[in-house]
Amino acid sequence: MNRINTLFGIQYPLVQAGMIWCSGWELASAVSNAGGLGLIGAGSMYPDILRQQLQKCREATDKPFGVNIPLLYPEVEKLMELVLEFRVPIVFTSAGNPKTWTPKLKDAGIRVVHVVSSSTFARKAEEAGCDAVVAEGFEAGGHNGREETTTMCLIPLVSRAVGIPVIAAGGIGSGRAMLAAMVLGAEGVQVGSRFVATEESSAHQAFKKQVIQAKEGDTLLTLKELTPVRLLRNPFFDEVMEAYRRGADREELAALLGRGRAKKGMFEGDLESGELEIGQVSAGIRDIIPAAEVVRQMLAEFRSAKASLDESGFSF
Ligand code: NDP
Repeated sequence: MNRINTLFGIQYPLVQAGMIWCSGWELASAVSNAGGLGLIGAGSMYPDILRQQLQKCREATDKPFGVNIPLLYPEVEKLMELVLEFRVPIVFTSAGNPKTWTPKLKDAGIRVVHVVSSSTFARKAEEAGCDAVVAEGFEAGGHNGREETTTMCLIPLVSRAVGIPVIAAGGIGSGRAMLAAMVLGAEGVQVGSRFVATEESSAHQAFKKQVIQAKEGDTLLTLKELTPVRLLRNPFFDEVMEAYRRGADREELAALLGRGRAKKGMFEGDLESGELEIGQVSAGIRDIIPAAEVVRQMLAEFRSAKASLDESGFSF
């Protein structure tokens, strides 16, 4: 029995990432209804918005769903109170110390998963009592680890470092990539970018269209002096590059980034001056489809790739 399915009470070990501005209740409930685990991305929600989102998600699915809470969020206590009030069964935490909230959430019977980018942080999450970790590699969109370890290298290292189940993330947008991650030692996968380009994602339509036109090399990790973030190239990205060329320091970069760029780009569809956070895997995404269809296609490809490996003479 797959430990991730058992832990969350789901059919397929496929988690939809709780992405800021993209993962609202429509997407989370659609993925949960399709047999995966949907997550609401609370990082871009004021507490009253999260309350509405939780109510709507409850009405839209009777399957388990979760919430992703970045621990650096300014009003993290209020979000945690909501999670407890609504008895959300699963919480994914990121960007912070898992010791701060894991024991309290676990005492309330909540399954807790922390997002990490290295074996060291994975061990800390396990010591803090987390039920699983998401190990997210360099390919991932948005905020990223400083170590720049690729998913291919990270998953075997983290799987060896901890006893709790590992969910692989970063570069996984197909059934073949899902199979590869499981062969590397993961027991589940977390998928972000592929779900941005779905009908239910709350991303702006202009951003979704940009994602499906992305080519290899169109995303790059930047702003490492602040929080490293993988962005799709656009005029704002070029401004950042120009700032680097003239030797801008941390303060200048922070001033250039300003506030609310992610909302501008991903939620309001300002493709010129907004931040467009998406993973390398966007180069392989060509259509905007229902989230349930993503789940169906990934599972079908996973099964056929697994079967064809056995049949194709990979015996030496
Ligand atoms: P900014 O500081 O540039 O902007 C904050 C944005 O978040 C604004 O657009 C604001 O919306 C919105 N927001 C929602 N709730 C709140 C709140 N309680 N207080 C202040 N702002 C709020 O942040 P980013 O756009 O770069 O990042 C957005 C969020 O993403 C962060 O607040 C953080 O929680 C999360 N994040 C996650 C990381 C991770 O998971 N690794 C790393 C970095 C950030 P409005 O314009 O309507 O006021």
